[in-house]
Amino acid sequence: MTATTSPRQRWDVVVAGAGPAGLAVAAACATRGLRVVLVAPHLRPWQQTYGLWADELDAVTTALLGRAAGPALGHRYPATVVRSAAGRRDLGRGYARLHNDVVHGLLLDQLSGGGRTVTGSVTGVRPDAGGQRVTLADGTTLTAGLVVDARGGGPGSAQQRAWGERVTGDVTDLVPAGSALLMDWVALREPGTPQAPAFLYGMGLDDGTTLLEATSLAARPPVPLPQLRDRLHRLMHEAGLRTAAEPERVAIPLDASARRGAGVPVGAAAGLVHPATGYSVAASLRTGGAVADAVLAGADAAAVRALVRGARRRATLGLLGLGREVLLGLDEEQTDAFFGTFFTLPGPAWAAYLDTGSPPSAVAATMLRVARALPPAGRRSLAAGVARAVRPRART
Ligand SMILES: Cc1cc2nc3c(=O)[nH]c(=O)nc-3n(C[C@H](O)[C@H](O)[C@H](O)COP(=O)(O)OP(=O)(O)OC[C@H]3O[C@@H](n4cnc5c(N)ncnc54)[C@H](O)[C@@H]3O)c2cc1C
Repeated sequence: MTATTSPRQRWDVVVAGAGPAGLAVAAACATRGLRVVLVAPHLRPWQQTYGLWADELDAVTTALLGRAAGPALGHRYPATVVRSAAGRRDLGRGYARLHNDVVHGLLLDQLSGGGRTVTGSVTGVRPDAGGQRVTLADGTTLTAGLVVDARGGGPGSAQQRAWGERVTGDVTDLVPAGSALLMDWVALREPGTPQAPAFLYGMGLDDGTTLLEATSLAARPPVPLPQLRDRLHRLMHEAGLRTAAEPERVAIPLDASARRGAGVPVGAAAGLVHPATGYSVAASLRTGGAVADAVLAGADAAAVRALVRGARRRATLGLLGLGREVLLGLDEEQTDAFFGTFFTLPGPAWAAYLDTGSPPSAVAATMLRVARALPPAGRRSLAAGVARAVRPRART
């Protein structure tokens, strides 16, 4: 499907990028009857294994289908467990893994109901007579009332990194049957050998294998992937697990700023990846409809920008970023103690910290609660971390 790009055609919306954020906006525009064109180098289903909370999957389902029931957009894990030196804990909140093929196919179907796609790469966006003009690498230009920039995030200086393997063998000691393992801060530790803090993440996949990932939550500079691979392979060797497929390599910028320019950035391009955990998919998939509704109601670029990344959202991101900076200063033991305490807070308190859509007051309240709940040594390292985080960083 290609856009018929007559030079005089003016689109309501041009979307650059077909990741979850861009495709969700483009599909929502098409279903509302807006003239929309999506520009992307390709339209292949996303390759990443996308995890989200089960209640977020419910919200995504309602947002994309307009109802709570329909094709399963993801696989659900009724239990989510975390493990620290203090022990294993069931968080009492279900987890989910997005069915990329189903969601991607659904959004493409919605888009094809009225929208168009162009295979290409956007190289520039500039203002143009009451709207915006997009230039593609092959010289094509498209004009629109609004350009949505969903080209993903910049590199950032702090990143989450993970090395993942799909494994066969008995994993129940690591990932309890039917559960998702959100964080295990014990499995990858080697007593007496100080290493960068890393946790094991894991979940069963549809083909009967299990995805295990050695994950560095946040580090500046990022932890080299071979280090995480070696730690995971050591654990797999000890547990008698074998690799079943290609590895998954994860690198998520955590502090990339929002893309500048005439377009309205969404998703990772808008700096909306959670600054401490790297999650963004659920929020992006839910936001498409709100952006399309605003355009339909006549909102201009400034209004849509404020909707996506307004003052309240920026304040929340600032607090979450402060939390990340504190974590960056903690060693393995301190990180373990931090999460051992964090997940003892009441569910709504830790959940508020994990959601970039939370009000800043709720995030601040959680941060204070963790500080109060930590043992004295943990509180001291947290206070030192805050002092470090608010000190201006030396320029290199
Ligand atoms: C391996 C991996 C695993 C992840 N796992 C999770 C997870 O479990 N849960 C979660 O919430 N988040 C996860 N993330 C983080 C984040 O949510 C994803 O990066 C997510 O894909 C971001 O969505 P996006 O649409 O904003 O950007 P992207 O997915 O980065 O999409 C950007 C799109 O823009 C296209 N593009 C780039 N340049 C141009 C151009 N010039 N013109 C046109 N198109 C262009 C790209 O081809 C790409 O398709 C993961 C990230 C990675 C890398």
